Amino acid sequence: MKIHEYQAKEFFTSYGIPSAEGIVCRNAESCSEAYCDLHSSKVVIKAQVLTGGRGKAGGIKLATSMSQVVKYATSIIGMDIKSYIVDRVMVAQAVNIKSEYYISLVIDRNSKSTVLILSKEGGIDIEEVAAKTPEKIFKIIIDPFIGIPNFLAARAARMLFDNNDIIKQAIPIIQKMYQLFIEKDASLVEINPIVVTEEGKLLAIDAKINFDDNALYRQSEIEALFEPSAEEKKEQDAKSKGFSFVHLGGKIGCMVNGAGLAMATMDMIKLYGGEPANFLDIGGSSNPNKVIEAMKLLLSDKDVKVVLINIFGGITRCDDVAKGLKEAFKQIKTDIPIVIRLSGTNEKEGRELLKESSFHNALTMGDAIRKAVELSINKN
Ligand code: GDP
Ligand code: MN
Repeated sequence: MKIHEYQAKEFFTSYGIPSAEGIVCRNAESCSEAYCDLHSSKVVIKAQVLTGGRGKAGGIKLATSMSQVVKYATSIIGMDIKSYIVDRVMVAQAVNIKSEYYISLVIDRNSKSTVLILSKEGGIDIEEVAAKTPEKIFKIIIDPFIGIPNFLAARAARMLFDNNDIIKQAIPIIQKMYQLFIEKDASLVEINPIVVTEEGKLLAIDAKINFDDNALYRQSEIEALFEPSAEEKKEQDAKSKGFSFVHLGGKIGCMVNGAGLAMATMDMIKLYGGEPANFLDIGGSSNPNKVIEAMKLLLSDKDVKVVLINIFGGITRCDDVAKGLKEAFKQIKTDIPIVIRLSGTNEKEGRELLKESSFHNALTMGDAIRKAVELSINKN
């Protein structure tokens, strides 16, 4: 789960990690009030969206007068940044930056540990630094039984800074980041950039925290901050209807009974050169209402060009499923081609029932998926 920068900064403040003071605002008028309240002639207006790269997208502007504050606030609020619409900005005291650095804590699956990542190349896309100049990124694997004692924090701080005064400031920041990471069940705590100011202070000017969804049951304060994206809303909605649904972004909408078969279906789509639009496990019933709900879910995705229904009849009988599908498609009107593969108990009877329909009936899973991929490639 992700939270906004201003929320992450509140966690920083409660843990004693210094960051530039800021006020969150929902319109230009409150931005100008915030500008007065901050008593700072120079401020930054920062889009609050649950995605990175706001700077590059024009969602971060430096303002030095009231008219600039209003102008930038007006342009940033409502802006679309990677499909997130900005409904909040943070007006923050601008900092005189001397140099920018990168510090984060993240779960590293290879070492099965938390890893502390540091770089002198702060402020820019860290993935790019890692790809082009991996030698500029330092990693320290953290032993969970030891954590980050003083000597280790000092060693880490010295990798970034030469100045003793800055090193002294960095040590507790690194330790508090780790404390926050552990206590709040974070999967990422990232400061990019942490800056040395002209005045010689070390300050976080950006803040990013991701949390482990599986730990939210014991982090109710964090769970309350959850703001689902449009896709996550759909997934939640599907969950409430008894489906397991994950949006994937391709063109082939999949409706499958059983999670294992759904996974195999997605793998085969990829193998034949297609892109699945989603993972959808409708479970083991032949209830037409379920098929209707599942179809609505698939068709609400504008990228879906083909629907592939892949059913294996075990306890569920294929003729029941076919009846359910026929019933459902009396109510669903769509021009999107539908490929169906029914296999297992009473498959012949099932296919017989669907003979007259406009569906593409496939005999095997391979045929069905090849057909779906072919149809998806021809349709753009
Ligand atoms: P991101 O693009 O979403 O990662 O947003 P950041 O908060 O990291 O800001 C991007 C860049 O804007 C930083 O690396 C800085 O160069 C610049 N920036 C942000 N806040 C300030 C500030 O208070 N003063 C100055 N001079 N630059 C800032
Ligand atoms: Mn940043």
